[in-house]
Order: sequence, then C-alpha cells, then structure tokens
Amino acid sequence: MARVAVVTGGSRGIGRAICEGLQQDGFTVVANYAGNDAAANQLKADTGIPSYKFDVGDHEASLAGCKQIEAEVGPIDVVVNNAGITRDGTLHRMSFEDWNEVMRINLGGCFNMAKAAFPGMRERGWGRIINIGSVNGQAGQYGQVNYAAAKSGIHGFTKALAQEGAKFGVTVNAIAPGYIDTDMVAAVPEPVLEKIIAKIPVGRLGHAEEIARGVRFLCSEDAGFVTGSTMSINGGQHMY
Ligand code: NDP
Repeated sequence: MARVAVVTGGSRGIGRAICEGLQQDGFTVVANYAGNDAAANQLKADTGIPSYKFDVGDHEASLAGCKQIEAEVGPIDVVVNNAGITRDGTLHRMSFEDWNEVMRINLGGCFNMAKAAFPGMRERGWGRIINIGSVNGQAGQYGQVNYAAAKSGIHGFTKALAQEGAKFGVTVNAIAPGYIDTDMVAAVPEPVLEKIIAKIPVGRLGHAEEIARGVRFLCSEDAGFVTGSTMSINGGQHMY
C-alpha cells in the first residue's frame, strides 16, 4: 500500500510543488492549509490531492486534523512541515503579536505535527519528517528576528528529534531554501529583491520544484542513512 505523506501549507508555492513531487513518487499525498480555499480547490482539481484546513500553530487543531487524516486516508508515514509565514519588521517596530505568531506557526507547527505523527511512525518502524527551514534561519536577516529565530529553531528541533527517531527507523531532516519565486517572495519590494538576487552566485531565484526535489530524496528509501541533516538549496547564497 502506498505510504501517506502530509504536507503542511501544501496548497500553494513550495508546498504545492512538494505535493506534486511526492505524488509522482507514489505517495498518497494530503495537503494542509490555513484559509485560502481557492488554492486548495485548485490543487484538488489539478491533481486530485485533498486538503485539510487547520492551523498548524494550534496544538489541538493539529492533533485533530491528523487524527481525521489517519481515519480518512491512513496512517501518516511522512510529514513535511512546510507551512510558514512572515511578519517582517525591525525589532524596534515589531509587535509581540508579530513575534509570537511567527514562532507559533513556523516553529510551533513543527512540534504540533510531530506530536501527532511521530508516535505512529515509531510504532510502525518507519517514518520521514522533513522540516522546511530557511537560509535566513542560518544566516540571519535584517528585519526578521522572529522569522530567523523560528527557522533557526527548526534546525535545532530537527537535530534533536533525529536522535530520538533514529533507532525506530524515523529520519528527521531539514531543508534550508534560499529565495524561491513564490508568493512569499513576491511580497518583497522589487529594489530589495534586486539586491538579494545580486548576492546569489547562481544569479536567480530558485524554483519551488528545486526544493521539492530535495524533499523527494529525503523521503526515499535511498535516504535511510540521512538523518539530522540540513540540506541547503540556495544557489550558493550562504555556504556553511
Ligand atoms: P507561501 O506563502 O507561498 O505558502 C504558504 C503556505 O502555508 C500556504 O499553503 C498557506 O496556506 C500555508 N499556511 C500558512 N500559515 C498556515 C497555518 N497557520 N496553518 C496551516 N497552513 C498555513 O509560502 P512559500 O511556499 O514561499 O514557503 C513555504 C515554506 O518555505 C515556508 O515555511 C517558508 O518560510 C519557507 N521558505 C520560503 C522561502 C521562499 O523564498 N519562498 C525561502 C526560505 C524558506 P493558505 O494558502 O491557506 O494561506
């Protein structure tokens, strides 16, 4: 039977490319999203992939959402923690709400989804958790103390959970994308974006499919010895 993969924030952007890639690899794919029903309906119409609407930053909603997925689709074998938001501003201007919302969704979402799916993976002796971090979690970014902290936290979360999952056949890895041509980056003002692109050695933004290819590898049987790692896919923007 096909393994079940849940992709948070799977209805748009990088998440959608991950959904389509995992479907091509034979997974039964389920997307999650927050509120944009039109994008979720479009995904369903184009690919047949169903979407479940719940806020990954809400602990109880995430547990209930995953329970519903398991009842309707099957035990969850793969979780891709991709859902994320930005609420940019310098510390000087950033409200506590902007700080908290980004931590709650971007980092809290990884905890909530892992709490829901990890026990089953452990019991069945196989699982894949892929957390989408960011180059800005590795290098920091002006005007993003909330986002950089949450994404950096994701990289620590990955390494810690990898140690817990290893002996149960559950691998936990992160991908740190550079700047990718999605709605999130479309929100960056053009002059700022030009400066960013000038600092990317490959000389362009990345494509969502280029992140999806990394996820597809990490979900494969071939990646069984890869755990606790962070794959940087950033056009050479940050090397470490
Ligand atoms: P988009 O803004 O294009 O899409 C975000 C997705 O996340 C949507 O499906 C959205 O649902 C969903 N989402 C947002 N909040 C929640 C929530 N609380 N609960 C459930 N789902 C939610 O983002 P990208 O595709 O650009 O980014 C995907 C991931 O990659 C994010 O974690 C981002 O931080 C990371 N990343 C992106 C980079 C880039 O350059 N684009 C660079 C580095 C990292 P809905 O449509 O309903 O709002």
